[in-house]
Amino acid sequence: MDSSSTIFSLSGIRVALGETREIYLKVSESFLSSAIQIPVTVIRGVKPGPTAFVFAAIHGDEINGADIVRRLIFDVDHERLVGTLIAVPVVNIAGFLNQSRYLLYHRDLNRFFPGVKHGNNAERVAHKLFTEIVQKCDFGIDLHTAASGRLNLPHVRGDMGQPRVRKLARAFGATVLVDQAGVRGSLRREATDAGIPTILFEAGETGRFSQKISLVGLRGVLQVLAEMGMWHSDEEFVRPPFQVIVKGSEWLRAEKGGILDLAVKPGDLLYTGDLIGSILNPFGKTVTQIRSTCTGIVIGVTTAPLTIPGTGIIHIARLKKTLSLVERSLKGKKRKKK
Ligand SMILES: [Zn+2]
Repeated sequence: MDSSSTIFSLSGIRVALGETREIYLKVSESFLSSAIQIPVTVIRGVKPGPTAFVFAAIHGDEINGADIVRRLIFDVDHERLVGTLIAVPVVNIAGFLNQSRYLLYHRDLNRFFPGVKHGNNAERVAHKLFTEIVQKCDFGIDLHTAASGRLNLPHVRGDMGQPRVRKLARAFGATVLVDQAGVRGSLRREATDAGIPTILFEAGETGRFSQKISLVGLRGVLQVLAEMGMWHSDEEFVRPPFQVIVKGSEWLRAEKGGILDLAVKPGDLLYTGDLIGSILNPFGKTVTQIRSTCTGIVIGVTTAPLTIPGTGIIHIARLKKTLSLVERSLKGKKRKKK
């Protein structure tokens, strides 16, 4: 890592201070013998400083991050940038082309970092990304959405036990910070373990752009860059109404098959015993009511109305010590006990 260097190059292309370059990074080849190339925009401030990556669509159908990266490239005055920003709107090209989460052979790219030079197809792509981009950086941000059929509250995930990760996560400005290092092979876990603190932003749903989420994401990324001395703005940081670090999160699942009538949405505060929704049979009669088995904040919901035993209904982050803080800040729009 040579973050303060005046020289930066990618794919053999040098980018000088004050320059912005669009570069293709070859990571694989297609069945048509053509190159699979990842579009990378390298933005260098006039002054040297830290180097950071912002990745989107590592899961090829989680495209909202591509819109956040586009705004980062085009809606932002590059003269205010210090250091080097490596912006990648579409990391998983094969998945993006197929509107799928996966690379070819159903491999999840976000399970193969830091990669293997002569490994399988996913390991090779991961290795290229890790050596050509991630290892040149001081920190990184990985933009995701909920998986297919689900909708997420904007929140940040990362290993909050690590002060440098926590600093990035807090600056992003989300209300909920989920303290999860990530599974082995995930980018945030492997980059952080390699000394490059990395956070993951989760928001929205697959296959869609939400302007609201794009703006929240853009602001979050800029606040992280500002915190790290890479971005100068006269604007005050936007402080969320509350900010809690949650350790445990779990999916509450259907016990019955049928048609779901969901009564909650992302961001709702639920207490043990609260009604989450009902499962109906095809005649429209209630088969069962689903109630929360814990107290916490809803960070994800299913968007699919059909259930069988085991279908994930809501993803809830448990609140314990921080419950009163959340209750206080939600006061005024406090929900009635159902
Ligand atoms: Zn994802």
